[in-house]
Amino acid sequence: MESAITRHHSETSSLVSWSSAVIVVKMVRRETLQTFLMLCLCLANIDAAPMDVQRRADGSVLIADILYSAEQWDRFLDKNLLAMERLWPKKDGVVNIFYKISDPGVDTTALNSAIAAWEAKTCIKFSKMAESDERVDYMNFWLNKFCYATIGYWEGKPTPVSLADCPERGPTHEIGHALGMVHEQSRSDRDDNIIVYMANIKPAMKHNYDKGPTINFEVPYDYYSLMQYHDRSFGIDGKRVMVAKDVRFQTLMGDGDKIAHWNAKLMNTMYKCTDDWLKACKQESEPCKNGGYTQKDCSCACPLGTTGDKCENLVMSYRDALIKQFSPYTSVISTSGAEVVSPGYPDKAPSTKTQYTQVFRAEKCQRAVVTFQDFQIEPRSASKNRCGFSYLEIRSDVSVPEGKIFCGEEIEKGTAFKSDKSELILHYMNNDYTKFGKENKYRGYKATFTTEAIPTCS
Ligand SMILES: [Zn+2]
Repeated sequence: MESAITRHHSETSSLVSWSSAVIVVKMVRRETLQTFLMLCLCLANIDAAPMDVQRRADGSVLIADILYSAEQWDRFLDKNLLAMERLWPKKDGVVNIFYKISDPGVDTTALNSAIAAWEAKTCIKFSKMAESDERVDYMNFWLNKFCYATIGYWEGKPTPVSLADCPERGPTHEIGHALGMVHEQSRSDRDDNIIVYMANIKPAMKHNYDKGPTINFEVPYDYYSLMQYHDRSFGIDGKRVMVAKDVRFQTLMGDGDKIAHWNAKLMNTMYKCTDDWLKACKQESEPCKNGGYTQKDCSCACPLGTTGDKCENLVMSYRDALIKQFSPYTSVISTSGAEVVSPGYPDKAPSTKTQYTQVFRAEKCQRAVVTFQDFQIEPRSASKNRCGFSYLEIRSDVSVPEGKIFCGEEIEKGTAFKSDKSELILHYMNNDYTKFGKENKYRGYKATFTTEAIPTCS
């Protein structure tokens, strides 16, 4: 089997030749290595993310946003170790991470806020080192061309976290890596939640969608995880790479920019913070229900969708609650004859970024049919001849990764879209006009859902 890295090497001239040859040989030998080949979506412009696999002079290996020590690299190849074995040391119930900011250009406001976010939700503490402190085991925040981190702790040497060109969720995401977390789409259970279309990934990037043998501690897969990619990350010409099996999350996945409940629970389980807190709170067993857990002040940290001191009332599933909060226009429509309109139709379309999914679901052996009475959103750009940030995508069902994209007035009145099977899916997205001091002056759309029998179906 020719590995993605092999192809990548042949296309990339900046690699150190002797060492990359070693990597290629070992990769072919050990599939397990691919587990750890990951990229980062923390960058606002994913195309600007680093692409190289670099073996450095000290033997460490940089793959996209994750840096492996020479020892780690060799251990991956030989023993298939998990991130669990690279946790930071813990003493008296506290993981105290000493850190240094070794580059004056590091955005300390963003860094401090990321550190504070992890401290607030875990038993991990960060202590800035004094100038005179000569310890060697510390987290080193610096700027080195782009945004990357190690997975977990490097014993006996600084653990580097580079925060160059690392906006928005970047610092929180990278610290997540440095504390031991992998990307969501690399989890061992990812195939239950997403379909990865390898053919749609830029050839040099395929290895970044490999799956790892992760231990998930019964923490569910979260499309809204801090560690989840967007669905088109590193797609050829922006093609879709991941299809969400829960289609409501198709365009929402990767938007999570905070430490989600499940991110925190996973981290607290990995570092056994929860065990210590239970003990300190004199609890023999976990009193918090429905995926909640006892946190440091002895109250329950509850997932979305639950209420009550002990998260005992399951009002709705976590995923339903996510949709309600972050994509309230997302809906599943199953009533034939239903009329749907875009938000604010026809004269108050939202001017802020709005995205949602409408799933039209017919009975078995019935086709979903959506007929448009009106359609108007921002037209495609004349210079690039493509729809911009405002568009409507129509997909026939989840087994088809790509739908057709429409904008402007490209759907004429009376046009009917029919599904191959029982489902028709609309993904709507509009631009954030307020960013440019503008208003959305387009009407949106109005359509009707009907069904019709599929002749050969039984
Ligand atoms: Zn990452």
